[in-house]
Formats: sequence, C-alpha cells, structure tokens
Amino acid sequence: MKQKIGIIGAGASGLIAAYFASHNKHTEVHIFEKQNKIGRKVAATGNGRCNLTNMNMGSEHYHSGDIHFVSDVLQHFTLQDTLNFFHSIGIVTTTLENGKVYPSSLQASTVVKVFEHELSHNNVQIHLSRKIESIQPVHHGFKVITAGKEEHFFHKVILACGSCAYGSLGASKDGYELAQSLGHTIIEPFPAILPLNIVNKQLHTLQGIRWDCTLSVVIGNTTVQQITDEVLFTAYGISGPAALSISRAVNEAVLLNKDVHISCNIFPHYDMHTLRSLFTQLLSQPKKSLEFALYGIMNNKMPRVFLSMAGIPYEWPAIESFNDIDTIIQAFTRATLYPGKPRPFTEAVVAAGGIDVNEVNPATMESTLHKGLFITGELLDVDGDSGGYNLQFAWSTGAIAGKNV
Ligand SMILES: Cc1cc2nc3c(=O)[nH]c(=O)nc-3n(C[C@H](O)[C@H](O)[C@H](O)COP(=O)(O)OP(=O)(O)OC[C@H]3O[C@@H](n4cnc5c(N)ncnc54)[C@H](O)[C@@H]3O)c2cc1C
Repeated sequence: MKQKIGIIGAGASGLIAAYFASHNKHTEVHIFEKQNKIGRKVAATGNGRCNLTNMNMGSEHYHSGDIHFVSDVLQHFTLQDTLNFFHSIGIVTTTLENGKVYPSSLQASTVVKVFEHELSHNNVQIHLSRKIESIQPVHHGFKVITAGKEEHFFHKVILACGSCAYGSLGASKDGYELAQSLGHTIIEPFPAILPLNIVNKQLHTLQGIRWDCTLSVVIGNTTVQQITDEVLFTAYGISGPAALSISRAVNEAVLLNKDVHISCNIFPHYDMHTLRSLFTQLLSQPKKSLEFALYGIMNNKMPRVFLSMAGIPYEWPAIESFNDIDTIIQAFTRATLYPGKPRPFTEAVVAAGGIDVNEVNPATMESTLHKGLFITGELLDVDGDSGGYNLQFAWSTGAIAGKNV
C-alpha cells in the first residue's frame, strides 16, 4: 500500500516538499491550497523577479529562538543543493547585486510554472481552493478536514501554511492555529521587513524624498545595528531599503518596551573633517539664514526639519552660528528618530516568531510532539534578512521534509 502524504499550503516550502515527496514511488502526494492558484506569494517575490537565494548564505542572516536550528537546516539542504535543484528542473540562475540569486528569466512566474509542470508530471494531486480547517491525529496518521467538510486520511502531513505577513497574497494565521491545535508552542509573531512609523512629526514633511543615510538602531546606549542605504521619507516615517533592513530590530525593541531610538546620518559619504570645512564655507555666507545657507548641500526641505528636531532656530543668521558648528553638523549626522508602534502585518514581507523550533527536528523537519507531522517554512520561528534568505529557508525546510516524509 502507498503512503499517503498530505501537504497543507502550495507556497515555496510546500511546492518543493511535494516535489521531493513525490519522487518516492511508494508515496501518493496530495497538496491543498486555500487560494485558487499555487505559489501566489512566490510569484510576487523580488518585485516579480524571485530573489530565490543568496550566495552569501549563513545563519548570521537569520533570527530565531535557536540559531543552531537554522545552521542545521542550512547544512542538511545547502545553498549548493538549492542551486543544483533549480538547475535540475530547468531553471538557470543568475547572481546580481549583493550576492542575490534570481532565475535567469528574472520572472518569478517561471518558477511557479516549472513547479506546476514538475508536480503534475510526478502525479501530485493539487487541490485548489481547499482551506484546511482541522488536522486530527488518528490511528497511524491524521484526519485532515477542509472548510467544505471534506475529510481525507493521510499517513503523514506536512504543514507548510506560511506566516501571516502580507495578507493581500492570502497569508493568515491559519498555520499557527493548526499547529497550536496539535499542541505546538507559538512564539508571538510580529511584522518584519516593513516601513517604520516615526513619531517625530517634523520628519513627515520630507514625504517623497529619497536620500542615502546611515541608520543606527540604538538600544539604551548600545548600537545594535547599522546600515547605510537609501531611505524613503514618508507621511508617517521612513521606508526604503535602509528602513526595511532595520525594521526587525526596531519592532522587536518597541514591542519589548525597550528604550530604543534610531540615529540618522544624512551625510554617510562625508567624514567629519570634510563636513567641517563644507559647513564653515556655507555658514560664512552673509545675509543668509542658517536654513537658506544649507540649501546647496541637501534637499531644501531638510535643513528646517533636522535643525528643528535638534532644537536649533533655523532662521538664525548663518554667519552667527560659527561657535555652534559641531552642534549644527550633529543635527544632520546624529538626528534622533523615535520609532512608533509597528506598522501592520499587511505591509510586512515576513513575520518574525512562529512555531517554536525546539519542537521540530532540523534533520527531518518532523515534529517532536507528533510522529508523522512535518513543519516547514516561515511558519517556524525563523526569519531571514532581505536578500533571498527567506526563500532559501523555505526551500531547505521543504526539501528536507519532502525527502524524509
Ligand atoms: C511581497 C513579498 C516579496 C518577497 N520577496 C522575497 C524575495 O525576493 N526573496 C525571499 O527570500 N523572500 C521573499 N519574500 C518572503 C518569502 O516569499 C516567504 O518567506 C516564503 O514564501 C515562505 O514560504 P512558505 O512556504 O513558508 O509560505 P508561503 O509561500 O506563504 O506559502 C504558504 C501557502 O499556504 C497556503 N495556506 C495557508 N493556510 C492554508 C490553509 N489553512 N489551507 C490551505 N492552504 C493554506 C497559503 O495560501 C500559501 O499559498 C517575500 C514576501 C513577500 C510578501
């Protein structure tokens, strides 16, 4: 008799799990997807180009209750295994900026189409528009029940429901609820890789301006993260690559009620010596206000905003501010931004938190609470940095589960 395998969720980890599970001739694989097509989130990744992994792979790019779990997973199905796998199914890859790996087509939709082809070729039964509402352990397996009350028996189940980040692509808390109903512990999820609310109201007037900055996350007196990249100022705070990169550390600190602020330097490419000589020249212009004197070196909305955040009167005559030149420079190189409440999951690329990884075996992805239950992907308490790390974790965990199921 064939082993019946049920996979819940046709996203990144569920698709690769189905591929490997279906390579065993003793299995019959069924995949359930609550949406009307497979891989909707995968098709939206990397701005439609699918940044599927990163050549600089390592556990230092991940966050989890147990980082050793991540190292183990990445050793059991490695970056090279992932590249080999994609090549084997006809997806040639290309490496672009910062080690980011994409399909050479630069089309995420290709990746989904190739999976669709491979799964149907391997006789995987794909059940679309089937939301799984309940998984019940029964003798020698599990009873899986859909929202339409269809009942299915499987010897083994892979839970690959993803996280609750980015609901417009169908994400929800289903996976956490199903895992909790089976006794698993959920580390409270919170949104990561998303724009940040900043409470300094003056900053909101910079809406629409893009500017290279160094952003430092400071907790108490300690800088815990620093990044130099583009910031997009918005009506509520900051977005753009630099803000997205620090958002996880900031949101976690905010939710833990830590004393956190962001130090912002809008002159990341100048050293102090160059800045002093530039400001000395600019402030020596007669008959100009401080604000006006600085128009030539930054966007003209910036002097007023950063000077007022530092409590410096922007209408001062420039020529009279020489004694305070270092304080004035600091208004632009060490501006203190206070983060507000995290923005919603609907805007988050990933969710931090999830199923406690201490309840899952990283060599197989099998639950330590239920034999025959496997858990993969972003549903677990692991999130990666931006740059292909989250998909890599989905591919690795899905492949490990599919091979071991
Ligand atoms: C806009 C966007 C862009 C991204 N870009 C990148 C990128 O370029 N590189 C990168 O590394 N990461 C990227 N990510 C993150 C990456 O997409 C996810 O980490 C990855 O898809 C997680 O895979 P998964 O299998 O865990 O979950 P998902 O891919 O989310 O799949 C889970 C599937 O399960 C289904 N499901 C859920 N509950 C049920 C249920 N009860 N019954 C049936 N089906 C169910 C869902 O509909 C979904 O299809 C991006 C995320 C977003 C939102």
